[in-house]
Amino acid sequence: MAATEKASVTLDKLVSLAKRRGFVFQSSEIYGGQSGAWDYGPLGVELKKNIQGVWWKEMTQMHDNIVGLDAAILMHPKVWHASGHVENFTDPLVECKSCRGRFRADHIDAKGACPTCGKKDTLGEPRKFNLMFTTHIGPVEETASTIYLRPETAQGIFVNFKNVVASSRVKVPFGIAQVGKAFRNEIVTKAFIFRTAEFEQMEMQFFIHPKQEPKWFEYWKQSRIDYYSKLGIDPAHLRFHQHGKDELAHYAINAFDIEFLFPMGWQELEGIHSRSDYDLRRHQEFSGDKQEYLDQETQERYLPYVIETSAGLTRSVLMVLTDAYEEETLGEGAEKGDIRTVMHFHPNLAPVKVAVMPVVKKDGLLELAQKLELSLREDFATMLEPTGNIGKNYRRQDEIGTPYCLTVDHQTKDDNTVTIRYRDSMKQERVAISELVSFIRNNIKNYVRGQ
Ligand code: ATP
Repeated sequence: MAATEKASVTLDKLVSLAKRRGFVFQSSEIYGGQSGAWDYGPLGVELKKNIQGVWWKEMTQMHDNIVGLDAAILMHPKVWHASGHVENFTDPLVECKSCRGRFRADHIDAKGACPTCGKKDTLGEPRKFNLMFTTHIGPVEETASTIYLRPETAQGIFVNFKNVVASSRVKVPFGIAQVGKAFRNEIVTKAFIFRTAEFEQMEMQFFIHPKQEPKWFEYWKQSRIDYYSKLGIDPAHLRFHQHGKDELAHYAINAFDIEFLFPMGWQELEGIHSRSDYDLRRHQEFSGDKQEYLDQETQERYLPYVIETSAGLTRSVLMVLTDAYEEETLGEGAEKGDIRTVMHFHPNLAPVKVAVMPVVKKDGLLELAQKLELSLREDFATMLEPTGNIGKNYRRQDEIGTPYCLTVDHQTKDDNTVTIRYRDSMKQERVAISELVSFIRNNIKNYVRGQ
């Protein structure tokens, strides 16, 4: 067993591990990098897809009244006038007259000194800065062809409200879920993948009768914080923050953030917003197309209210990396005093579930390991470690968060068993090859961190 001393995780450590092991790379690195953008490497893309998969399953498969959607990023520009983004989607920008640094007025403390050069009384008056990126569609760059990159996925859901009602069996209360890219010209992009210009959101808009707003708001608040245990996140690292009147977005009547304890402190991970009928009403006004819902039983026509759950997918990747990271000082055996870095990903999120390795390359053991790895591919994301250097293989797999390592040794040839080694506890036991699939499946289902 390992005695653990949890060194506190820093952003630098995560950035370094992410690059070293192929989770996240700086965008356009060979050209000096593009700020506000990051690329997901071979393991990062798997991790991100797995987080998205758990969310999608939770929202659609586990709720009989939520359906999915994948709307286009490019939308009619009127959408953003109707949604209020052209007018209101702004952050307060202040500029330092001395160093020309630009900051979000609500993100700097009130002492009046510039966060970059430290000079006092050099910050100008805040002005509104719109966060939407514009571009042009069609061959002629003229005002009429100006188009926006969506700053949230939600509007794609609202403008399809009637399409979904007409084409599927849903009845209010019901939800529409969507995952996709969003773009914001943030005044300051920072903290690795926490705040970026290009990012991904996982949003769900839940349409309800206005009278049921309090009930559903409470339901989604609770349901969303509970969900994070499915990602294996420590509940002590999550909390609610209710928006004060001055914090509420232009569409919101009530809002709670779920905050996570990131390396830079408590920060928003997901927003739960009560949006009233703001969006459907505005789209009705701007498009001239009636957005009302007809209750077939009562014959009541009304504009539904909406409860929104809006989580950052790329921000969730940072949360999962943060929560999983541990530096462990080994307390016993030959490795006493060594430090191992281990990512305690929930097995459902781990990019690789099972690594297979021969204890030595010779005596036909490599071939046996290859055969075993091949046979497990249908059921799990696997990786072959062919070198025969078990110690090094374990370290690498710990660092990429692989929950199970299978070792093929001479005994395997005699009795068709292998050693399974658990990432968290480093405990080992022998399992028959014929039982491996159900054994590992069961283990994943009942996973508890530290096992
Ligand atoms: P902030 O006030 O911090 O700029 P926000 O409250 O405007 O953020 P929302 O519009 O509620 O954020 O977005 C919903 C979710 O989308 C956030 O909780 C976050 O996880 C994610 N998100 C928003 N902006 C970014 C960004 N620039 N980079 C990465 N994720 C983001």
